[in-house]
Order: sequence, then C-alpha cells, then structure tokens
Amino acid sequence: GNLCERSVGDSLCDSSGGGSGIGRAVCQRLAQEGASVAVVDLSIDSANDTLRRLARDAPGQDHVALAADVSRSESVRALMEQIQSRFLAPPRVAVNSAGITRDEFLLRLSEEAFDSVLNVNLKGTFLITQAVAQSIVTSGQDGGSIINMGSIVGKVGNLGQGNYAASKAGVEGLTKTAAKELAKFGICCNTILPGFIATPMTEKVPQKVLDKFAGMIPLGRLGRPEGNSPVRKGVYSL
Ligand code: NAD
Repeated sequence: GNLCERSVGDSLCDSSGGGSGIGRAVCQRLAQEGASVAVVDLSIDSANDTLRRLARDAPGQDHVALAADVSRSESVRALMEQIQSRFLAPPRVAVNSAGITRDEFLLRLSEEAFDSVLNVNLKGTFLITQAVAQSIVTSGQDGGSIINMGSIVGKVGNLGQGNYAASKAGVEGLTKTAAKELAKFGICCNTILPGFIATPMTEKVPQKVLDKFAGMIPLGRLGRPEGNSPVRKGVYSL
C-alpha cells in the first residue's frame, strides 16, 4: 500500500504493493506530484527497486522503502511505527495495492488458496485501512485519503477467480463502510476497480485468455499501470 498526504505536493504517501505493477506506478506518480513516498512491499528487493526509480525521477524528496506483510497485524503495526518515526507524521494518503491471485475453478479450489487470497487482499486492506485511520485520528491531523484496490472481477466474477472475486467484492464493502465511518474525521475512502492491466500479476494468465480480454476492451489491449494519457501535472492532485 502507498501512504501519502492529502494534498500531494510536499505530502507523505504510502503505497502497499509498491514494489510492482500498479502500486509502483502509483508511487512514481505520487513522487512526481511532489509527495514523499513510503514504498511498502512484502519483497524489500522490489520496494528498493521502486525506490531507485523515485530517486532517479524525483530526486531531492524524502522517500523510503519498507518491507511489510499486509496480511499480518504485527507486521502492519511495525510498519506504522517505522513510518511514524521516519516522517514524524501519519501518512496523508494510503494506497493499498498489495494483492495476489491463486486461480482455480471452484470445484477444485482449495481452502488454503481461498484463505491466502482473502488474507492478503481483504484482511490486508482492512489492517492497513484501520491502522492508517487510527494513526490519522490519534495524531489530530486534519483528514487524509485511503485508496483501496478492488477489481472489476469483484463486480462481475471471472472464471477460476472465485477467491479473488470474493476478496475484491469484500474490499468494496469494507471501503464503503470506512468512508461512512471516517468521513467525520475528514478521511476520504475510495475503491478503484481496474479492468485488466498489464503487470506481473497478469503475466501469469495464459495468452489465450489475455487475448480474449483484450478483444473486449475498446483499445484492443490491456491497460498500462502508468495510464493511457500523458501526465498532466497537478490535474489529479488528491
Ligand atoms: P503485482 O503482482 O504486479 O503487484 C502486487 C504487489 O503486491 C507485489 O509487489 C507483491 O510483492 C505485493 N504483495 C503481495 N502480497 C503482499 C503482502 N502480503 N504484503 C505486502 N505486499 C504484498 O500486481 P498488480 O497487477 O500491480 O496489482 C495491484 C493491485 O491491483 C492488486 O490488488 C490487484 O488485485 C489489483 N488489480 C490488478 C488488476 C490487473 O489486471 N493487473 C486488475 C484489477 C485489480
């Protein structure tokens, strides 16, 4: 997840899953907009790889790479302490992009594959959302923004993705509830529902299936993590 400040210029942002794909592109964009970014990933090597790109593209800003497992509460607690001691403030913007797939048809889907996807995608989103909200509320900071990654699959389902679809539908319900509960603290909560985006996650999908999805997309190809249009600086400030 990425945690970041509400007005991005000069803010602290944090992104979980920031070591790859969409999360990495989010980190790069936040840094470009002037935020200090905490890149969070299960893999510290991946997070450091993103950090190197931020140092190259947005030098002079204070970014950090941190390892955390969003599905474990003790790891999330330690992460929040590291962010607090490094930046002396809670994040203004948190982007939860950490996610996994373990595809299997329902008739063969194991309990273990169901639990592991729910643990990272849904429980991980809950743990980070709660921890960020608690840190903002207790600090007396004036608001923030929590952005969780759902998926179009959570809305319409997908062959072989019962566990993933359930986790992403759960993320939507959780985030809508968070939005209602946290509005009084000035904390905005939103879910993004990407369609199919070309990242290491979709690299695992057979080409035949990717071609089928590309055929359903007006552009005739998968989306790109960095987006389809040129960056217009400032237009999308949070
Ligand atoms: P990705 O596999 O490229 O990146 C996911 C990152 O999450 C990886 O760096 C991985 O190390 C990290 N991660 C996994 N488990 C973690 C854990 N327990 N704690 C911390 N980090 C962990 O995937 P992506 O395509 O960039 O997907 C990002 C998010 O967007 C996911 O939530 C995914 O479900 C969602 N999404 C992706 C697509 C798509 O087509 N790529 C579509 C809709 C939604």
